[in-house]
Amino acid sequence: ETPMNASTHALVAVAATSGLVDLFERQQQAARREVDVPLALRRERLQRLTAMWRHNEGRLAQAVGQDFGLRGERLTQVADALVLDSVLADLRRNLARWSRPRRVRTPLHLLPARAFVQRQPLGVVGVISPWNYPLQLALGPSATALAAGNRVLLKPSEHTPHTAQLLAELVAQHFAPEEFAVVTGGVDVATAFSALPFDHLFFTGSTTVGRQVAEAAARNLTPVTLELGGKSPCIVDASCSDLDGAALKIAVGKLLNGGQTCIAPDYLLLPRGREAAFADAYQKAVTRLFPQLVGNADYAAIINARQHQRLQALVDEARALGARVDDVGPPALGTPASEAEARQMRPLLVFDLPPQARLLHEEIFGPVLPVLPYDDLGTVIAYINARPRPLALYWFGQDEAARDRVLQGTVSGGVTVNDMLMHIAHDGLPFGGVGESGLGAYHGETGFLRFTHEKAVFVQSRFGRGDLLYPPFGARFDRV
Ligand code: NAD
Repeated sequence: ETPMNASTHALVAVAATSGLVDLFERQQQAARREVDVPLALRRERLQRLTAMWRHNEGRLAQAVGQDFGLRGERLTQVADALVLDSVLADLRRNLARWSRPRRVRTPLHLLPARAFVQRQPLGVVGVISPWNYPLQLALGPSATALAAGNRVLLKPSEHTPHTAQLLAELVAQHFAPEEFAVVTGGVDVATAFSALPFDHLFFTGSTTVGRQVAEAAARNLTPVTLELGGKSPCIVDASCSDLDGAALKIAVGKLLNGGQTCIAPDYLLLPRGREAAFADAYQKAVTRLFPQLVGNADYAAIINARQHQRLQALVDEARALGARVDDVGPPALGTPASEAEARQMRPLLVFDLPPQARLLHEEIFGPVLPVLPYDDLGTVIAYINARPRPLALYWFGQDEAARDRVLQGTVSGGVTVNDMLMHIAHDGLPFGGVGESGLGAYHGETGFLRFTHEKAVFVQSRFGRGDLLYPPFGARFDRV
């Protein structure tokens, strides 16, 4: 880079940042002017967002495809829309009920006063979203915050620039900047963004960046929601009688979006002795799901060269440490015809990993599945509990006592039993992590409350004594 280029970059960054502060202040002033957003207006904003999404779903999916180089519009419409549509429908159905004040019972010694909890918007909510599901993870939290009566400022990932740009345009067409606006830019903008004194900051991304966001927010005492990542285990129990069925589901969960899913099973715990049977079943499943890999738009490319190299390095290290790496993809038909096709990584199973292998310590976020054989359930539970608490956990089997031992003996953000990923699609379930996999949850009423202040209101009755705290205090004891 020439010095001129560098200084131009710096200028652009400063301009972007000052525009950002302007936008934030406009939203903040609007939020302080109009504190309680009437239900009709919340509903109307939600409808506007829903219409924006419905009418532009195809274009948005196309933009995601451009950003990945190879990711089918249908894949995006299935994977992103599955969760986003359910979040939107759930908000529409329940918004009125969730917005109402909650009457609480008043204890005898405070009667005849009454009390209630008033649900109010927090004000201005910041949303920072990642690149892997760049529509649902940007629009889902934004919709929830808007429905709860907040102003929203969204910062999408710089790794999906086409999507970010289109989101910015569409939001500007459908919303006044003081209602909902999108800010685009790289890490410099993201850093400035997380330093703003939001009333709530909602972050989805990696644990490392999540920590930085939490630090920045702490300086403003801004409450945060952190939707992070980590290593989600998948346990095949000794009681699992249908290994083919389990392998098919595990392949679906692992390979969706080329493995770039926060709740994908990261590694597999398998009863010792069933490795060969599993490898066979997994290979069949992969070939059934993706009869051809190269150029198959249902099998997304790895987002960029850097991520692809990172994954390649993890596998190379495993090989160098003596692990066995099985390519379980369908036979390669021809050579990749484009740079994007070259970033389609083949599905791999990894056996005999030594404990120091990075594949066992870093979130994989790609189509590589380490298999760890185990002898008894106790060691499985101990292994999981010796590590950071995962975002998701999967369990396959029929023995309900064994299942309950795992459910009771481990802590994870969520669990799906005998399937993959589905707990994120059920709108009655809160979605979020715990410990290093996140802080706070959303979806359903939990999500609505994430962006709501529950204000305590005590209303004294005209007949109330209300003299509980009046001095002289001694006199009260004298009476007893
Ligand atoms: P990332 O943490 O690199 O980036 C996420 C966002 O943070 C981007 O918008 C980026 O611009 C912004 N950012 C980068 N540096 C920042 C800083 N210093 N301050 C403030 N913001 C900053 O994550 P990613 O690579 O886009 O996404 C992959 C990760 O996200 C994985 O770890 C995955 O598990 C996780 N994830 C979690 C969920 C969930 O719901 N829990 C969903 C999807 C992805």
